[in-house]
Amino acid sequence: MTEISGAELTIDLGAVQANYRTLQSHLAGAELAAVVKADAYGLGLGPVVRALTETGCETFFVATAAEAVQLRGSESDANIHVFNGPLPGEEAAFLEHALVPVLNSLEQVQNWSAYCTGIGAPGLADIQIDTGMSRLGLEAGDVARLAGSPELLQSITLDLALSHLACADQPDHAMNNEQLAAFEAGAGPIGAPRHSLASSSGIFLGTEYHFDMARAGAALFGLNPVPGNPNPMRQVIRIQGKILQVRSVDTHRSVGYGASHQATRSAKIATVAIGYGDGYLRALSNAGTVFIDSHEVPVVGRVSMDLTTLDVTDVPDGLLALGQPVDFAGPLNPVDRIAEQAGTIGYEILTSLGTRYQRHYVGGEGNSA
Ligand SMILES: *Cc1c(COP(=O)(O)O)cnc(C)c1O
Repeated sequence: MTEISGAELTIDLGAVQANYRTLQSHLAGAELAAVVKADAYGLGLGPVVRALTETGCETFFVATAAEAVQLRGSESDANIHVFNGPLPGEEAAFLEHALVPVLNSLEQVQNWSAYCTGIGAPGLADIQIDTGMSRLGLEAGDVARLAGSPELLQSITLDLALSHLACADQPDHAMNNEQLAAFEAGAGPIGAPRHSLASSSGIFLGTEYHFDMARAGAALFGLNPVPGNPNPMRQVIRIQGKILQVRSVDTHRSVGYGASHQATRSAKIATVAIGYGDGYLRALSNAGTVFIDSHEVPVVGRVSMDLTTLDVTDVPDGLLALGQPVDFAGPLNPVDRIAEQAGTIGYEILTSLGTRYQRHYVGGEGNSA
């Protein structure tokens, strides 16, 4: 076997499992469902779901029917809920794969009800109430109509009434309380047996936000659900690139596209094989920092598709050999920190990781090798 060793993405499934247990320990009696939309936030749907199932997770949320069908292919027993609900024509696929749609409008309620009545089989469904996000969900007026017209729910067996918080990562934000009150007012009349409001950050707002189920994504994957406070979650990913070349540049030589960096001293520049094609965002040009061993070094010049350039002048020569690993994300530079440097959020860093890394899954019983 010949070896090919490009940039590596290591995904610690043991950390995902530990994070699941940490969140569950905050929830007392409420169920913890895992949100695994967008390929489990870029970390790989199959391995992530297997690890979560091992640790006791029974319910998963995805965004689209296509994601749900993919998940059903590997997890025959899981409860799979679909945030976006069925578009017209998708109803049969939902029933065929035993997917629970989140119905987000009266029209979606009517369509699902009509379909289930038509085939003579009751369909399970959740109903989302809009309590302030103005994206998806029934408004207060829709809730009143639904409560006054039970025939609208003919052939539908309700599972969850749910809503989503806009500002849960800011515990002092007035909207949290407002949305909680709107949810309590709206969920009652709908008559669903179970209620769900909190996602990752919402879990940390207090027990009154927990209801029967929390739906966590980001915190399972290591992002900090309580920004500004120490992260209670374990880091999940490590990204290592390799040095392709080190060169000396003199004063006034420029580095990279657009000549956006000019050396102001005689400097050593290392070029590493990771770029925005790997999700190391171009916004990190002249802004990101990475680690060589324990040495923090700045990204200088523009990040290009396949390459990033670093000022390694202060790094000992022994750490600058061809193939030397460079931590683009790791113990010293967590995803939230990269996001801050890029002017975005950790969610976008994770879901941008791309397909070019050599992926290694470690931890988790199914991945003990
Ligand atoms: C994505 C999503 C979640 C999960 O949010 P995290 O912040 O990643 O925990 C929960 N509920 C809804 C409706 C979502 O769209």
